[in-house]
Amino acid sequence: MQTDEPSSSAPLGTPLGILGGTFDPIHVAHLRLAQEALEACALGSVRFIPAGRPMHRHQPGASAADRLEMVRLALSGYTQFELDESEVLSEQPSYTVPTLERLRLNYGAQRPLVLLLGADAFLGLSRWHRWRELFALAHIAVATRPGHVIEFTGTRTNMGAQSELANEFQTRYTHSANALSASPAGRISHFAMTPLEISATAIRAQLAAGTSPRFLVPDKVLDYIQAHRLYF
Ligand code: ATP
Repeated sequence: MQTDEPSSSAPLGTPLGILGGTFDPIHVAHLRLAQEALEACALGSVRFIPAGRPMHRHQPGASAADRLEMVRLALSGYTQFELDESEVLSEQPSYTVPTLERLRLNYGAQRPLVLLLGADAFLGLSRWHRWRELFALAHIAVATRPGHVIEFTGTRTNMGAQSELANEFQTRYTHSANALSASPAGRISHFAMTPLEISATAIRAQLAAGTSPRFLVPDKVLDYIQAHRLYF
């Protein structure tokens, strides 16, 4: 059984949200997810971490440098959003556990770290490298995503086929995302974000077909895509 008690009497500090992704390209649902997580999970800020060489999915359509630049443009001017370049700058393949280990060293043992995942990403979690170690390093807050329903009803979930993940979910689940600020790591919660049926896959397809994803990506990101002829 998990406990909400801090492991020592030292102050925990404001929870830090962590949003990893391929961001190929970054779009407005990523930004809304971060914004709504700030409020739902009482976060001080959200750190966006573009993957350099993501290992659990297809290889990106844009280079790491271009994806990083698009995230930088999308975040500029928003003081509660931070950019973490480390996965892109690293020579190593991008895995979340080593990234969280580095953040844990930087922020200390007590700071609540909250890994933000859309429901699709959460449902695929048990395919991630060293995924069981995530819970010692961070909490997980799952955002609803259209087309990827997770049943959060008491002891029942629709993760039956992934019994290990379902077990973790049942042991660690707290219905109050706000409660994540009471301990450094180890709980799972969820929050209902405004449903936005937007994906980077669909945006890349629109660009390849010659139609515009205007208003699905920030204007500065669209300008960058067009100036660098990405995804055409
Ligand atoms: P792709 O279509 O290329 O797979 P994506 O749109 O899912 O990309 P990612 O960079 O893979 O974008 O996603 C980063 C994180 O944002 C993941 O946790 C993902 O679940 C979440 N996310 C992306 N789009 C949405 C959305 N529309 N609603 C909720 N969460 C989302």
